[in-house]
Amino acid sequence: MRIWGIALPSRTPVSFDVDGDRLRASGSSTSDGLWLLPGLTDVHSHPGTEMPGDEYSHEVFRRHMLTHRAAGVLTVRSPGSADPVRDRADDVDLPRLARSGQWLATPGRFFPGAGRRIEEAELPSAAVEEAAFGWCKVIGDWMPDDPPVPLDVLTATVDAVHAAGGRVAVHCQTAEGCRNAVLAGADSLEHGMHLDHSLLPRMAAQGTALVPTFSAFAKSIENIEKATDERLKEWIRGGWEHAFPTARAAFEAGVTVLAGTDTYPCGQVAAEISWLIKAGLPVEAAVGAGSWTAREWLGLPGLVDGGFADVVAYDEDPTENPEVLLRPKQIVLRGEVVV
Ligand SMILES: [Zn+2]
Repeated sequence: MRIWGIALPSRTPVSFDVDGDRLRASGSSTSDGLWLLPGLTDVHSHPGTEMPGDEYSHEVFRRHMLTHRAAGVLTVRSPGSADPVRDRADDVDLPRLARSGQWLATPGRFFPGAGRRIEEAELPSAAVEEAAFGWCKVIGDWMPDDPPVPLDVLTATVDAVHAAGGRVAVHCQTAEGCRNAVLAGADSLEHGMHLDHSLLPRMAAQGTALVPTFSAFAKSIENIEKATDERLKEWIRGGWEHAFPTARAAFEAGVTVLAGTDTYPCGQVAAEISWLIKAGLPVEAAVGAGSWTAREWLGLPGLVDGGFADVVAYDEDPTENPEVLLRPKQIVLRGEVVV
């Protein structure tokens, strides 16, 4: 099979032969005007469960991943899973998965009964265990007035995981929780609602990414009026308003800002890309945040000779018209045509 078109982000005409699950440059450079991405990427999705505390279901996992695939999402990072089976080989017909093991929740933090519950002193060793497949996910804070995971504990956790070759994603929404995640040297801040902008240069310098998950908060903001806790309402509303200038300021400061949906149904990363554009990211950066930039950040190659044969083709340039992301013309995963 031969795939040709204009590759993004380089905008160069390319032509590849599919060789197993790899792309091989074919030498010809004809273009029929299709625009090619190495698939979309959702860096914050939890396939396998729908509600906090649900038991993991492999059937649900497959359904979620196939929903991603049908939308052209060929790479997913799962920052926290209820999957107790950590040595299962990935299904070859499903999108590539970056796994983080189970959510790591210390007392008073996270949904009751959800995640792996541990004491603060156990966090570094538990994080190393969960990071066996690359990532681990730490619940760094929870409700607005509760203390976050202390900085010394979080720092020891990040250091231990890095020493073992893993990476750390930290859930943080309070200003203090975000600050501790940055000072501890986390690899990504998940949500980061009340992140203080003075921390952005440090994030950029040390390579801490920001995943604002607008899609998830768009739902919270719809539901928040029903809540009776005025302090919580004010905190959520304030965080929502703050998240837009934060995403833009982060991008401008050189922080890697990425698209993660953290919501259901799966397969909606194009909507998260739209939120990033609303926040003020240039369109090309927003599309990259949900495609090539995220893929590269996860250690996967783009559309290059020898790279994986993961390609989604569009009729129009998505950096000119991001709405075209909702209408993939062709989807190829691991060298197999799926649409
Ligand atoms: Zn999440």
